[in-house]
Amino acid sequence: MLATQDVCRPSDAEVGPELRQILHEKDLLELRAARVAARFASTDEYDEQGFASPIDWIRFNCHQTSTAAADLIAVGKKLEMVPESAQAVSRGEIGFAHLKAMVRTANAVGAKFDEALLLAKARENSPGKFYYLCNHYRHSADRKGFEAEQADLVENRKLWISTGEDGAVLISGVFDPVGGAAIRTALEPLARRSGAHDDRSREKRFADAAVDLATHALDSGLIPQQGSQRTHLQVTTSLETLLGLPGAPAADLEFSPLPISSKTVERLACDCSVTRILLDSESTVIDVGRAKRTISGPARKALNVRDRGCVWTGCERPASWTSGHHLKHWIHGGTNEPSNLALLCYRHHWMVHEGHWQIVRGEDGRIVTIPPTVTFGAPARGPD
Ligand SMILES: [Zn+2]
Ligand SMILES: [Zn+2]
Repeated sequence: MLATQDVCRPSDAEVGPELRQILHEKDLLELRAARVAARFASTDEYDEQGFASPIDWIRFNCHQTSTAAADLIAVGKKLEMVPESAQAVSRGEIGFAHLKAMVRTANAVGAKFDEALLLAKARENSPGKFYYLCNHYRHSADRKGFEAEQADLVENRKLWISTGEDGAVLISGVFDPVGGAAIRTALEPLARRSGAHDDRSREKRFADAAVDLATHALDSGLIPQQGSQRTHLQVTTSLETLLGLPGAPAADLEFSPLPISSKTVERLACDCSVTRILLDSESTVIDVGRAKRTISGPARKALNVRDRGCVWTGCERPASWTSGHHLKHWIHGGTNEPSNLALLCYRHHWMVHEGHWQIVRGEDGRIVTIPPTVTFGAPARGPD
């Protein structure tokens, strides 16, 4: 026996038109729902049923988000201000999403609202683009109101930094358009793929870019000083940890919800301007390292001139966005001679220390990178 959906199943060529028809019918229903929602909001039914507002009633009883409920009521209440546009939705010339932007604009500019002008734009543009154009129109019709709203968005910027259960750091925020654009403008070039081999997701590249930006600001001394000290990552570690000896404890990093591994300490100490506080076995401070780069002055300048930027094949990060990596770490007796140093961007520096890549300089002076050993398949299972 054939299921109903198999009998009615459209051919491939019919799917597009069918979807269009369904979504048009959805727009018509939303238009109808908006009328009814506005009518409902004008009664005190919600109050009698114990709800704080008509939005709340719709949210709870009709399984809608607050925004969807508020939009329905707002559109329904203002339909008489946009009669031509409501007709255009009925005829399928524009969508309900256009109508929402139209009503928001009508509410914002009041008596100056010009439906005919906006309807022409709605017919020619997608809802997203139309919403953007509506804001241009709002600025031209009511500059002061537009400015006040943007100032409000600046005053309401927020950034939340919290710790997840596994010690991961969660960051989320709300920004005004200009502040958000400044952040994106700074992150976008740092988040670009660094070549064909770069298979990081967009989200991962943006997260790496944000860390790079903060690291660069710390490294370059761009963060305002705390007293006489430049702001640095502050690590507290034992010599055993720094040496990577078996049985050594992890190290502490200020503001990190979890202690950090000896591999991370090794990377931070490789070049970074960390404040080193080494504790001996009795936990007494034996060396408070000055906040100074391990490779500094003429050695770093010579390195910048020779390598010009990250030495990783295909990587284009300039010298000011790199760390000086010791091919043989100074903690194990490596020197600051140019032959033992190479510039690596923050990400590639991480890959060498914590990511288990190897980097070697060939006899011709060229840098070769060797990926970590890949083991295929699951390890053989031992007897139960
Ligand atoms: Zn290094
Ligand atoms: Zn690099």
